[in-house]
Amino acid sequence: MGATDAEKEQSVYESTAARFDAAADKLKLDDGLRKYMRCPNREIIVHIPVEMDRGELDIFDGYRVQHSLARGPSKGGIRFAPNVTLDEIRGLAAEMTWKCAVVNIPFGGAKGGVVCDPEKLSRGELERITRRYTAEILDYIGPERDVPAPDMNTDEQIMAWMMDTYSMHVRHTVTASVTGKPLDLGGSRGRREATGRGCMIVCDQALKRFGRTRDGTRVIVQGFGNVGSQAARLMHEAGYKIVGVADVHGGVVNSRGLDVHALLDHSREAKTVKGFAGGEPIDPEEILEQECDVLLPAATENVIHGGNAARVKASILVEGANSPTTPHADEILFDRGVFVVPDILANAGGVTVSYFEWVQDRQGYFWSENDVNRRLRRIQVAAFDDIVRYGKNHKVNNRIAAYMLAIDRVAFSLRHRGIYA
Ligand code: GLU
Repeated sequence: MGATDAEKEQSVYESTAARFDAAADKLKLDDGLRKYMRCPNREIIVHIPVEMDRGELDIFDGYRVQHSLARGPSKGGIRFAPNVTLDEIRGLAAEMTWKCAVVNIPFGGAKGGVVCDPEKLSRGELERITRRYTAEILDYIGPERDVPAPDMNTDEQIMAWMMDTYSMHVRHTVTASVTGKPLDLGGSRGRREATGRGCMIVCDQALKRFGRTRDGTRVIVQGFGNVGSQAARLMHEAGYKIVGVADVHGGVVNSRGLDVHALLDHSREAKTVKGFAGGEPIDPEEILEQECDVLLPAATENVIHGGNAARVKASILVEGANSPTTPHADEILFDRGVFVVPDILANAGGVTVSYFEWVQDRQGYFWSENDVNRRLRRIQVAAFDDIVRYGKNHKVNNRIAAYMLAIDRVAFSLRHRGIYA
């Protein structure tokens, strides 16, 4: 059984707004602030002309939504995908505001996207799309305004092109204009692994609550992009047993544990985990319902819904992706006692190390990997503890607790700044 029609129609924006409303009710947030925080600050739509390799001109739609600037410059990734919509970007931008507030870093939230299929684009086309998109939104971005980063299908190379385009326009190199860059171009040590490492940190904390340890804890990872592959590798190296991995093309399971290093080699070659000889093949949809202790969705939105939530076997859900669980599934998981580490906490490792990257670029002084990882751990453990405590005190689940904590922090800034008229 799949997602219900109503769930399919419910966009990330609607899910985020529903969660915002639930948390705002609990906080008894006044109507004015509620209206203000519910809607984005600014939405930019651009139509990008690009010369394709075949000699013709194509037009690509691009978006950048800045949801909040209350606590600092807005921050968030840029995704390249065929199904990107303004509504999705709007929802994800709001999620970034709450995410940055949950880990208490001095940023607001933003998100961007270009409607394109990177699998069908040459490197040159990808570069031209990236540069023209950056040029189109240039007046609204920058280290003090809005700082882009990688997201779905965008990587260090794309961030390098964005940084270069920005720098060419302002006539000097501004490494702090973008994060997630290559190490030798103002990138931070540990940024590539940061989201996956953050997932492991919060998973460790969740296990502690159940009096359990990493050793032999069975994990299933859905998605093998940057987040999923790094989480699987780090957790495998730390003693977790990765019993299943899937991507859009296929999945593989092994109850004795997958050799994640061999799987990484395979997926580097084959561009998918499908066909890996070290386990049994499985349908990528079914993987979410397999026996495991920890489920780590690290692919895309709304994959856990009313149609499959009751069959999730894991007792801990660590949301590596943004918005992988629908509000309907939330209720089912809560009733079944599944311990959910919500996305805005679980995957906040990426933006936290982006913050470190921005700080290092502005100082021109770079930290060791140990420093980065130590500071990341400190921030995520503190946020985890804050949320669990907040949830207990206010008798709400972890997700609503995370939203409440975040909204309260943003509301504090807005109240004290006041409204400029
Ligand atoms: N795209 C990532 C996210 O959704 C990282 C954003 C950033 O580093 O600014 O959290």
